[in-house]
Amino acid sequence: MRERTDGEGFATRAIHAGERPDPTTHAHNTPIYATATFAFDTAAEKEAAVDRALEWDPTSYFYSRTGNPTNRALEEKVASLEGAEDCVVSSSGMAAVASTLFAHLAAGDHIVVGDELFAITRVLWEDDLPRRGIAVSTVDMCDLAAVEAAIRPATKILFMETSTNPRLRMPDLPALAGLAHRHALLVVADNTFLGPALFRPLEHGADLVLHAATKYLSGHGDAVSGVVSGPKALLDPIRKQVDTFGQAASPFSSFLVLRGVRTLPLRSEKGSANAAALAAFLEGHEKVEWVRYPGLASHPDHAVASRLLGDRHGAMVTFKPRGGVEAMAAFTDHLALCDIAVSLGDVFTLVYPRPKDGGIVRVSVGCEDVADLVADFTLGLSFVA
Ligand SMILES: *Cc1c(COP(=O)(O)O)cnc(C)c1O
Repeated sequence: MRERTDGEGFATRAIHAGERPDPTTHAHNTPIYATATFAFDTAAEKEAAVDRALEWDPTSYFYSRTGNPTNRALEEKVASLEGAEDCVVSSSGMAAVASTLFAHLAAGDHIVVGDELFAITRVLWEDDLPRRGIAVSTVDMCDLAAVEAAIRPATKILFMETSTNPRLRMPDLPALAGLAHRHALLVVADNTFLGPALFRPLEHGADLVLHAATKYLSGHGDAVSGVVSGPKALLDPIRKQVDTFGQAASPFSSFLVLRGVRTLPLRSEKGSANAAALAAFLEGHEKVEWVRYPGLASHPDHAVASRLLGDRHGAMVTFKPRGGVEAMAAFTDHLALCDIAVSLGDVFTLVYPRPKDGGIVRVSVGCEDVADLVADFTLGLSFVA
């Protein structure tokens, strides 16, 4: 067999890592291993495979809830991109969040979480964790003194989003990780809003990084999937939790995400450039009250974001048309190109109006030609009184 390499650069690994021609058929593309079970020649071979799988060797296949080769290809690709020892794929971003927390928390423990978090993650803090005897404190992750004050002797985890929803605040991860590690806490970063082409939390002190792969990793809005990456010792309990909670990824979803990740670097560049241009356009528009984009000097975390991200600040923009909820709806309901939809990280630009936040609009900027986006936003804003 020829020596094979995944290459060194991020874009090369986004394409090559985890993927090889199929050894039996020589199919070049990674197949969808649509199988529930795996067959063995002998009882002894079956026993060895089961034992290895249940010691969390992710390449020992005997049943697809526990391990599957298409899922494994995605795990190897994402681990390479994160600079992680290993990765666990699961059925959704929420499966990654929930299995990570339930694997590393027990009754009597305490967790400190960011005060602006993805809405369904918030249900975990407000309901599922407290119901199981796990105490939760929410705190502004951009206020280091407040984070330190929230830590108790029972605290086990500091959980944060690297770019928050919807105001796109960017906590200073290296400073938070330094603080957390002085208190022997695990730092878990949900990096969904940025993706690993723009930011890799493990390089900045996080112990575990997770994503809704549904978003930037897939990039095409065609799959629901989650990934968590880090050292194998921290991932084995999560792999077990995914197995026992029945949160296994579908090989079909993993196939779609594998295909998506190959263009993540290209989409991240284009999305960031489009978002920067659209944010600048919105900031200069008379019908716009304010714009939040980490690349704008007006953003409260512009300095932190520039230090951690360089000159690409992500593809999410949040803004408020002048005039509250009515203005918000006047804008969104007259767009002719961009769709009103939840979710993000798609090549299609998606706008998500938030009337309960006073009429702000969150924009997941896609990979269209930016002139078409500016034209559509100009049209929408022309209907704002
Ligand atoms: C979407 C999202 C999730 C959950 O992912 P699903 O795949 O929808 O379960 C978690 N965190 C953040 C920040 C998200 O945007």
